[in-house]
Amino acid sequence: MTSNQPAKIRFPDNEDEEDDAPENSNVDEIMCDLEETANTPPVEDSFPEGDDKTSADYYFDSYSHFGIHEEMLKDVVRTKTYQNVIYQNKFLFKDKVVLDVGAGTGILSLFCAKAGAKHVYAIECSHMADMAKEIVETNGFSNAITVLKGKVEEIDLPVAKVDIIISEWMGYFLLFENMLNTVLYARDKWLNNDGLVLPDKASLYLTAIEDAEYKDDKIEFWNSVYGFDMSCIKKQAIMEPLVDTVDQNQIVTNSQLLKTMDISKMTPGDASFTAPFKLVAERDDYIHALVAYFDVSFTKCHKLTGFSTGISVFLRSSSRPRSRATHWKQTVLYLEDVITICEGETIVGSMTVAPNKKNPRDVDIKLKYSFNGRRCSVSRVQFYKMR
Ligand code: SAH
Repeated sequence: MTSNQPAKIRFPDNEDEEDDAPENSNVDEIMCDLEETANTPPVEDSFPEGDDKTSADYYFDSYSHFGIHEEMLKDVVRTKTYQNVIYQNKFLFKDKVVLDVGAGTGILSLFCAKAGAKHVYAIECSHMADMAKEIVETNGFSNAITVLKGKVEEIDLPVAKVDIIISEWMGYFLLFENMLNTVLYARDKWLNNDGLVLPDKASLYLTAIEDAEYKDDKIEFWNSVYGFDMSCIKKQAIMEPLVDTVDQNQIVTNSQLLKTMDISKMTPGDASFTAPFKLVAERDDYIHALVAYFDVSFTKCHKLTGFSTGISVFLRSSSRPRSRATHWKQTVLYLEDVITICEGETIVGSMTVAPNKKNPRDVDIKLKYSFNGRRCSVSRVQFYKMR
């Protein structure tokens, strides 16, 4: 899963690309074109039927648009892992009833049906469910897959129990969008006692990075904008975690496991937690931000399988990452202080994570950290909101 309202994303590869919006000087030309075509039939006549969605539909439900599904399907780390889990563990699926929670295009349901599942129920609340139905038919799986359009929390399932629940529910920072609750709801309502949840483990990690350049550009920028103090915006900017790809060379400390969740056993309350951390510097450097990432695993497979959204390792001989990046990238939390750290020194603290009270799809993060090093000392509490 990905986010419909990403927190904040930078696209370093496109920074130099020119804006391709029409220049003002072209406006006259465009107006002339419109006048010339004024007598031609109304544009609606030439649109195929069924494509009657407007931007308002997508604003509230971006999963109805194919673009977000294209991004997820093309994330091969994500999609191939699910495919491998299903195709290489056919013994798990043979003659089993499967529930696909948040089916999107139906890709996971198709994998399961192909692997020999007795029947797959694919629940999808967005309009993509209509496409999923068509895709299932086109590919000849109508007997094996039933697509149900609606919310998991509101749908009537034609069977009382299922053997397997499969879902790709992970959001940025693992918990953004809070679809995990939907999976837990489905588990408690429909999963057999000896049933499986796939994936069944998810872990969140924390590390620390040097990131002077980008912190300057995105945070310190507000200190003086064309000579004016706009630092009130800086306070907001620093509260927004940044979803971005971090370069391996930026990492200054070890990684710390914050929390492992067992999706087959946990309660919704377990997604709110406080976890201590201790980050030890592996070299002398400056620290500008902490970075969170997650991994998921399928421990009930013949061989432990999973994937990580951790920082890709770059080969010295090329700029291509050895372990591929995912569309979740990493989540960067900028620190108010710059920490001057020496090799072996430690930053200790805790991270508190909880769904926002007003909108449970958003995540509130509280970060407490203290550092007492040879070159500097800091102790602070910072709040972040993933929106
Ligand atoms: N399984 C697909 C799509 C994953 S994205 C794939 O792997 O490519 C998650 C999907 O879950 C989205 O399409 C979203 O619309 C759907 N979804 C989220 N919450 C839901 C809910 N409560 N009920 C039904 N569908 C939901």
